[in-house]
Amino acid sequence: MNVVVLSGAGISAESGISTFRDSDGLWEKYRIEDVATPEAWYRDPALVLDFYDQRREQVRAAASNAAHMALARLQDVAMVQIVTQNIDDLHERAGSRHVLHLHGEIVLARSTVPPYETYPAGGNIALGDLCPRGAQLRPHVVWFGEEVPMLERAARIVQKADVLLVVGTSLQVYPAAGLVQYAPKGCKIIVIDPNAPHISGMDVVTIKEKAGVALPRLVEEWMGHKL
Ligand code: NAD
Repeated sequence: MNVVVLSGAGISAESGISTFRDSDGLWEKYRIEDVATPEAWYRDPALVLDFYDQRREQVRAAASNAAHMALARLQDVAMVQIVTQNIDDLHERAGSRHVLHLHGEIVLARSTVPPYETYPAGGNIALGDLCPRGAQLRPHVVWFGEEVPMLERAARIVQKADVLLVVGTSLQVYPAAGLVQYAPKGCKIIVIDPNAPHISGMDVVTIKEKAGVALPRLVEEWMGHKL
């Protein structure tokens, strides 16, 4: 059984990491164009670095929650591949082995010159922190308006799903949101989100609950039935 998980900010909400679009979400406090676009980086790199330093500190202080851990347990009985829009590492810290980050990883820094090598981001990233080729480092995060290099790999993963779990994403950020459409015929699609988005033209089971409640229950049920 091939289970593919498409996760978004909502799966980490119960770990205390702010989502983007809920009422107390990040974008209530920041404007996308000030901190998460290439233009913002050219205009005020110090502000952008500071924004992501705060995100990194928040992630470091957080712990995986019951939803991340349930997905890690599911690996005992199924092939589980996670395609996440999240830049945190809470799936990995819970023990998930196959995690593809569509929008980058906050624990890594990236060079600003090709081939855009990544490096562990020890503490904060400061102006003047350079890669070995002498270029400024930036967060390894895909900003709005930038290409999503992992998209094709993610689409190929979704195309092989027997079950697609869509967890904690408003499905408003494209191209990530379009990945659901790659689910093959016969794939069972389950959406877990208290404010589950509508997915048009597809047969979907919706569970309007928090991921930390619904996922452990679903995984226990499946493990009882040995997928
Ligand atoms: P989003 O904020 O647009 O949507 C979050 C969704 O999670 C909403 O539909 C909400 O109803 C749901 N949700 C809230 N609490 C939940 C819970 N306990 N259980 C299940 N669902 C819950 O976030 P998104 O769809 O991921 O897309 C926006 C962008 O946000 C992505 O590009 C992503 O990279 C970025 N982001 C990442 C993080 C992170 O790394 N943890 C945090 C914030 C935003």
